[in-house]
Amino acid sequence: MSEQFDLTVVGSGPAGYVAAIRAAQLGMKVCLVEGRETNALGGTCLNVGCIPSKALLDSSNRYEEAVHHLGDHGVDVDGVALNLKKMLARKNKVVKTLTDGINMLMKKNKVTVKNGWGSVKDANTVTVKPAKGKAEDVKTKNILLATGSVPVELPFAKFDGKVVVSSTEALDFKKVPEEMIVIGAGVIGLELGSVWRRLGAKVTLVDVAPRPVAMMDEDLGKEATKIFKKQGLAFELGVGVKDISVKKGKAEVTLDNGKVLKGDKVLVSVGRRANTEGLGCDKAGIQLDGKGRIEVLDNFETSLKGVYAVGDCIPGPMLAHKGEEEGVACVENLAGQAGHVNYRAIPWVVYTEPEIAGVGLSEDDAKAGGRDVKIGKFYFRGNGRALAMDEADGFVKIVADAKTDELLGCHIIGANASEMIAEAVTLIEFGGSAEDLARTVHAHPTMSEAVKEAALAVDKRQIHG
Ligand code: FAD
Repeated sequence: MSEQFDLTVVGSGPAGYVAAIRAAQLGMKVCLVEGRETNALGGTCLNVGCIPSKALLDSSNRYEEAVHHLGDHGVDVDGVALNLKKMLARKNKVVKTLTDGINMLMKKNKVTVKNGWGSVKDANTVTVKPAKGKAEDVKTKNILLATGSVPVELPFAKFDGKVVVSSTEALDFKKVPEEMIVIGAGVIGLELGSVWRRLGAKVTLVDVAPRPVAMMDEDLGKEATKIFKKQGLAFELGVGVKDISVKKGKAEVTLDNGKVLKGDKVLVSVGRRANTEGLGCDKAGIQLDGKGRIEVLDNFETSLKGVYAVGDCIPGPMLAHKGEEEGVACVENLAGQAGHVNYRAIPWVVYTEPEIAGVGLSEDDAKAGGRDVKIGKFYFRGNGRALAMDEADGFVKIVADAKTDELLGCHIIGANASEMIAEAVTLIEFGGSAEDLARTVHAHPTMSEAVKEAALAVDKRQIHG
């Protein structure tokens, strides 16, 4: 008789592998199915997403520092040269270290890994089709779908992998483009646009929205645009793309207003869509919504009893940590525990320079939801550590309920925003107030003192601003 599992997870991204580990910790016999080639666990995030992009952002930032900023600190460096081959090799090594690490974690937690594309045959069977060899039916009590997402293509300009590319190729250009056009000034477009600009490309970002990263608080959007323009990124905002034509390795991008942009690379970063192709949802009776995402109940169960789904393939923000939390909550519920995700306390980060991070409601969203709000703002130019670090750009903005003082949102544009946002996330998780934040002792001198000052500013009692 074939082996019987308690849980079979399809997809080894952050949502899937974290769920597999937690399920194993809870005593379940777990199988993890991944279609990518062997030893490439970790999904989009580790292989072609969060991690390689952050590795390149860090390397390109060091290069820019060496070329343009170290001199300001009295560190004179001559002959700074870019070794792109080495930079890409370092990025690949970081990815490999981490994906190997996931393999080790699977072994440590006794999770059986099967390499092949999975599809749902019925509520208790996943068919796994390896690249070579015969398909196998895996028998299981429950199934968890964590198949993630893939980049959206423009209908009139399919990816060709060379000139019109997705983020996957933009993480691995072997030569710095001369002119790069980024369609979609969202998080991925800004991050990868920044990488290649720092390394010498002339980068133009195009977006139909009037400001980059439409989800962010408007004040941050305005500040970010100002700073990015100063750095040399060009923007065409509030305008769509009508056509892209490629001739002899060069692209011409025609905008709705008739303007034509020329580039040797066009990164299309207009969003990602749930990846449910080949999963057999239709046949198995697993319902998708109008956007092709798997519909789930509060406990992440799909329309097929015993089959669950988490991460980018279900509705919600496409973020690694959102998927991880869903994976954990889902399997804890399966084990009879009270798994839960607080969607009000999910931070997001843009890893540009400066970084941009937010959690909770923006001022506009809070007002649109009928809340009376108080705002506190503090600029890093009034923060000692920021000046010492030459990182005085940006500010912290706190959104609090005008009556109860509940902390509704925190939005930061500034160096290390990705780390500083964590305290606001904790506070929102615990239902804290702006005053709680304002009365919390912060080490001096730290950039996080600006968070405290912004919280003090909610009641107009900031000290240094
Ligand atoms: P994925 O990571 O997409 O993993 C799904 C896995 O399932 C894949 O390995 C796929 O091969 C596998 N799979 C799919 N179908 C099948 C099948 N039928 N059978 C077997 N296997 C299958 N998010 C952040 O939070 N922070 C960041 O800094 C960040 N940066 C990003 C940068 C880039 C360039 C990109 C592209 C994305 C970034 N993201 C970031 C988004 C993040 O990568 C995703 O939100 C996250 O990976 C989603 O996790 P997931 O587990 O749901 O799916």
